Amino acid sequence: MTQTFVTKEASSRSLQPHDLTHQVMVGNVALGAGAPVSVQSMLNVPADDVSANLSQIDALAQAGCEIVRMAIPCRSCLDAFEQVCARSPLPVVADIHFDAQSAIEAAQRGAAKLRINPGNIGGLEATDAVLAAAKAARIPIRIGVNAGSLDDEIAARADLTLPEKLVASAEQYVRYCQSQGFDDLVVSAKAHDVMTTVETYRLLGDRLPEVPLHIGVTEAGTAFQGTIKSAAGLGILLAEGRGDTMRISLTDDPVQEVRACWTLLGALDIRRRNPELISCPTCGRCQVNLIDLAKTVESRIAELDKPLKVAVMGCVVNGPGEAADADIGVACGAGSGVIFSHGEIVRKVDEDAIVDALMEEIGKL
Ligand code: SF4
Repeated sequence: MTQTFVTKEASSRSLQPHDLTHQVMVGNVALGAGAPVSVQSMLNVPADDVSANLSQIDALAQAGCEIVRMAIPCRSCLDAFEQVCARSPLPVVADIHFDAQSAIEAAQRGAAKLRINPGNIGGLEATDAVLAAAKAARIPIRIGVNAGSLDDEIAARADLTLPEKLVASAEQYVRYCQSQGFDDLVVSAKAHDVMTTVETYRLLGDRLPEVPLHIGVTEAGTAFQGTIKSAAGLGILLAEGRGDTMRISLTDDPVQEVRACWTLLGALDIRRRNPELISCPTCGRCQVNLIDLAKTVESRIAELDKPLKVAVMGCVVNGPGEAADADIGVACGAGSGVIFSHGEIVRKVDEDAIVDALMEEIGKL
């Protein structure tokens, strides 16, 4: 059944673009109006397993996740959801489809935000009840539209491109919420195709400049392809200054999503949380096992909460320069490496002592 969410008043109203989005709070994390782009992910263990969800939240928090989303596929999962919310160190977003009553109860039982698709939440009356519950709980709502679940009327319009359909769908929901006096909104409109996603968010930002954007390429695939597709799409958007919170969706452990988000933010110099590895691709000049060396260093520094640059270089051609430029670095020679700290040579060690020597020097910073 097609639902129309645009009231007469809302459809005739045109908001003026302005510089600042309306900031919303997801627990203690601010979205929009100049707040840092926040990193989020989604739990993928059974929704009724409290300890499994809390364990996954701990792992995500350790990796730098700032907001976590939990699916609520049935009302019987709400007890577990409430316990997870009560004990989670991160704000927990309730992800709900098809059942407005679950959304209402999630708001009452600790959700820091609701994620709904008003196209499947049960009509205007149900939407109004969810808005009222969110308002009472003083939590925001994300209007999440996906290319795979557009409402029938908009999906059938031959005069619109897919990005225009996604934006029209999101906009009518947002305008309806605003017409009901609910402004604590976040919006997403995702597709699995990279350039469709980019074009959609550009249009969305232009049409709804007051609403914080949750950006992501949906159903991006397994870790390798998904990371590249997400980096391509989100990289363009972030470089253009679009996006207030992000998720990199991977068919993998959600901790990998968080690492990918931080790596992308760091690569764009937007936010940096962990060390960045600078390592050469190796060539015929290299006289150490640099590939293993770089991978070992990468895994040893992955959990460090320091935004350092660590260089692992294979020979004297570019090695000393890059190693000296980084906070900590090694320029390798024949079975050995010269360790640099802030541009100064601090020691020379054998190949099998390079990793420990780098970690020791990092520990001194
Ligand atoms: S730093 Fe040396 S070993 Fe590494 S790619 Fe460059 S020339 Fe080759």
